[in-house]
Amino acid sequence: MTPTLLGIPYDGASSFQRGAALAPPAIRSALQSPSTNPWNEEVEDAVAKLEDADDLALAHLADPRDAITDAVRELLGRGAIPILLGGDHSITWPIIRAFHRTGRRLTILHLDAHPDLYDALDGDRYSHATPFARVMEENLANRLVQLGIRTMNDHQRQQAERFGVEVVPMRAGFEAMLAATRQLGGPLYLSVDLDVLDPAFAPGISHPEPGGLSTREVISIIQAIPSGILAGADIVELNPVNDLRDLTARVAAKLVKEIVGRLD
Ligand code: MN
Ligand code: MN
Repeated sequence: MTPTLLGIPYDGASSFQRGAALAPPAIRSALQSPSTNPWNEEVEDAVAKLEDADDLALAHLADPRDAITDAVRELLGRGAIPILLGGDHSITWPIIRAFHRTGRRLTILHLDAHPDLYDALDGDRYSHATPFARVMEENLANRLVQLGIRTMNDHQRQQAERFGVEVVPMRAGFEAMLAATRQLGGPLYLSVDLDVLDPAFAPGISHPEPGGLSTREVISIIQAIPSGILAGADIVELNPVNDLRDLTARVAAKLVKEIVGRLD
């Protein structure tokens, strides 16, 4: 099973700022940067292990969601482990739908400052603030475990209860998140919204929310995923327009390398 990158340059469902569509080339450039080497902390050449399916061509599509689902199904059909580079977080629902259509019942590990459980935001049911409401109401996943949440409100708390979402909020602390990760079973899908990190570590995002995880803590959570259960992952919400000296793109590239380290 070959880990395969696919860029999804889509930010049409962002509620506040555009820019996430520019992220896939920024992450690739950080992965290839001669400022570092391509190895991960498992002491593997992560970049050599990756195939790259390039970016999905979305420019002329009014609704990209079917194209995203079809592209991910195609990757799954050839035995790839997809690592999707967003894009805004709205891409995760069509990705999960692709897994469901291939008969895979996923557990989802979702790292984010935000629960993304709105029924609709600004009238949009397919906003980047709603993907996990769609996943859960369509019963596309067995479990949804959320870590790092720090913007819960009444509506989304009701949605979380209705869908049986397992929320480990930021205030529960890092050790609680690590413990929740260690007990996960597969097949597991990892969805990393980069705003789960404190904006001091990842300034290049659209919705900075102070009080988040450090880069080291996110890496430790990835490394705590039990061996052999990871079936796919996405890294979303990098906004290069807001980034400083490519810092956040480099965080995303580092996370890609450590995700590859959990595959085997
Ligand atoms: Mn978020
Ligand atoms: Mn999100």
